[in-house]
Amino acid sequence: MTDAVSFAPANLPAVDRRGLMLVLSSPSGAGKTTLCRALLAQDSHIAMSVSATTRAPRPGEVDGKDYHFVAVPRFEEMVAAGAFLEHARVFDNYYGTPRAPVEAALAAGRDVLFDIDWQGTQQVAQNARADLVSVFILPPSVEELGRRLTTRASDSAEVVAARMAKAGDEMSHWREYDYIVVNSEVDRSVAAVTAILAAERLKRDRQVGMHDFVARLRGA
Ligand code: 5GP
Repeated sequence: MTDAVSFAPANLPAVDRRGLMLVLSSPSGAGKTTLCRALLAQDSHIAMSVSATTRAPRPGEVDGKDYHFVAVPRFEEMVAAGAFLEHARVFDNYYGTPRAPVEAALAAGRDVLFDIDWQGTQQVAQNARADLVSVFILPPSVEELGRRLTTRASDSAEVVAARMAKAGDEMSHWREYDYIVVNSEVDRSVAAVTAILAAERLKRDRQVGMHDFVARLRGA
């Protein structure tokens, strides 16, 4: 992979910027986790949002890194306290995005990557549209989706069947997203999302230091 420095946002450090929220959604098995890992590995200016969930950890998952694993009463307390930017029930479990780390990152000019479902994306779009860049990831075919779900050994046959059944519903929300990427080949999808990120970072309104920068250029 190329040196992380080459993926630094253009115009830094000359111009201060506000961070953005890059949301990737897909049905389970479309390859989103691999895509997220590749993005994080190549670009040190974006960090993963760590969600809270009430589901049990899968083998190898680390509390505080993959998710904050919490019991239902604690999750409900956090909802009541307004601690989530968005939250939703997915496959009989609750998931939510802790608000504070995201707000701090955006204000400091750092980007945040989210692996959340369409329900969460709708809530973020309602509450923070200007900061949101949403990408829907589709599998190249239904056969490939089935293959990817089945080879993920940690899930039981019932869970795989349920996720397969749910994939059609999830995919029906593609129109609600800014960008759509068909994930036929991981490297090409990473390149596509990298291009989206590069362009979105250059949006005028995110370059909050541009006013001062141009004033300096003009000798004001
Ligand atoms: P998994 O249990 O496989 O890690 O995630 C199941 C689904 O929950 C995925 O579609 C994932 O995008 C979604 N998800 C994970 N974290 C969050 C969250 O904080 N909010 C929402 N709305 N969905 C989430």
